[in-house]
Amino acid sequence: MPARLTKLQRAGKIKPRAAKSAIADPRKRLLRVIALLESNLGKPVWDGPKDALEVLVLTILSQNTTDPNALRAYQHLAASLPAPPTGKKPQDLPRDAAGNVDKVKLRLSDAARAVQAPDWAKVAALAPKALAELIRAAGLPQSKSASILGALHWLREITGNYRLEDAIDAIGLAATMEGLTQIKGIGLKTISVTLIEALGADLCPVDTHVHRILNRLGVVDTGANRDRTYQQLKPLLPAGSAFALHHNLLTFGRTICQAKAPQCSACVLRKLCPSRLA
Ligand code: SF4
Repeated sequence: MPARLTKLQRAGKIKPRAAKSAIADPRKRLLRVIALLESNLGKPVWDGPKDALEVLVLTILSQNTTDPNALRAYQHLAASLPAPPTGKKPQDLPRDAAGNVDKVKLRLSDAARAVQAPDWAKVAALAPKALAELIRAAGLPQSKSASILGALHWLREITGNYRLEDAIDAIGLAATMEGLTQIKGIGLKTISVTLIEALGADLCPVDTHVHRILNRLGVVDTGANRDRTYQQLKPLLPAGSAFALHHNLLTFGRTICQAKAPQCSACVLRKLCPSRLA
């Protein structure tokens, strides 16, 4: 099973292995899935802390669009309302041979490292329409503007500043997630992606790939409800496994267990998968 997506640093040597038999218990099946994916794809490792608010805003901007569009909108916002320089260099974004931002290797958490953030107090003072205009390149500007302003106003109320890390210190991770997910446009996936990428939180965000594959494998049974997948998965996950599982399921969903035509005959999990095609 080739690891076609190589944007992430991965630990451990690749040792191709396949499931040998079915496993009745969903938790034990999950443990086997985690081990087989890490054996075949390596273990993705977190690349260290970034500012959580910056990652959150980049993640909101990336909803329903490409990462390069989200980056363009973020850079325009930051250039329009600049904060004092912090030494971040856009040259540090992954580049292709021609020197352009590498669209394949780009991860939005890289952008939080390399791109100067806007002045959040100035962003928070904008009218929704004015912010929407500045982030138009990311699409859905009105709804994304409302989500970003909602997050900034919530943070100011909780902490008196615009630091998501301070909110977690003040009220804890669970209450921070609960508070932010009350804001329209910030779902469990958005906040959990933010927290794993920025802070290395031990959470497994559930996107379309994670949801589809875990249901096919019978680890969860949640119909079309991704938030239920997140809730059912959480107690089954061994500590420290969530980051690698999330990223390996993304790779696996893009290359093998695709939505329309899963390649079951080439799948290393097929012997333990109740949904395998013959
Ligand atoms: S056997 Fe098929 S449906 Fe099951 S995990 Fe593998 S590719 Fe997906």
